[in-house]
Amino acid sequence: MAEVCTLGETLRILDKYGFRARKKFGQNFLIDGNIVRGIIAAANITEEDCILEIGPGIGSMTGLLSQSAGRVVAVEIDESLRPVLAETLADCPNVDVIWQDVLKLDLRGLADQYHGGKPLKAVANLPYYITTPILMKLLEYQGLFESITVMVQKEVADRLCAAPGTKDYGAITLAVQYYSEPRAVLEVPPSSFIPRPGVDSSVVCLQARPEPPVQEDPAWLFAVVRASFNQRRKTLANGILNGLTVEGKRIPVTREEVNTVLADAELPVSVRGETLSLAQFAAIAGRLKALKTA
Ligand code: SAM
Repeated sequence: MAEVCTLGETLRILDKYGFRARKKFGQNFLIDGNIVRGIIAAANITEEDCILEIGPGIGSMTGLLSQSAGRVVAVEIDESLRPVLAETLADCPNVDVIWQDVLKLDLRGLADQYHGGKPLKAVANLPYYITTPILMKLLEYQGLFESITVMVQKEVADRLCAAPGTKDYGAITLAVQYYSEPRAVLEVPPSSFIPRPGVDSSVVCLQARPEPPVQEDPAWLFAVVRASFNQRRKTLANGILNGLTVEGKRIPVTREEVNTVLADAELPVSVRGETLSLAQFAAIAGRLKALKTA
């Protein structure tokens, strides 16, 4: 069977099935075998691994994934791709396709069914319209994914890997860095896809952390992070005063309390959230929780 991830083979398949890429499903098919091999190399796949592939599309990565992994479970929302994948995956007995929205799928149940409950590796050329919900879903299944290797918009990759104090640093950076160690692997131009996306892309590998790097209650930690980045141009103190919501409950905080917490954490009252590390956010969250739940 010819490799799917070439211009010629992709055009042949699209033409044979009269298939037109659907924008509403974020369909941009990879036509560069070197990029696909780069993604697979970054994911460090062995025959022991069970891969969750999100959005196999016409199978551009799936066949090559199946050659490296013990098993591939590919989750695809677009059922009109059934006849295409029946052809392109005909020689891949270790691939199962699940026709469902990945956001609605019980992924722990999937790991139990296909990998005896052991951790999976996720690999995907993600549909860009739902990048953040997919990443957050995978990360919040703590311990279920050993690693997540994904193609995303370059500007999203820059945010995932950003350092404090840079323009790309934000709530998503802190969430991703809480659960994983992200690393940018390669940059990918629009010409590597059909149809071409209107943006540059990057592959990032998120290596799951065995333990979060800070021990503070995540509900309080992310409440402070949200309060800070909801109003990016404001000081952290004003962000917290404007609204701290923990698990859906609004927590009233006085200016005096915020100032005390910041002083205890050895931070100036004028500090802005975008300059703070995860450890500093955790220090503030821990002190606030102690003060408000004492
Ligand atoms: N893996 C193929 C490739 O690299 O050429 C296709 C990647 S394309 C960027 C994204 C794929 O995700 C499409 O096949 C699309 O139909 C699928 N998709 C979109 N939303 C989805 C969802 N909620 N659940 C599962 N698959 C989805």
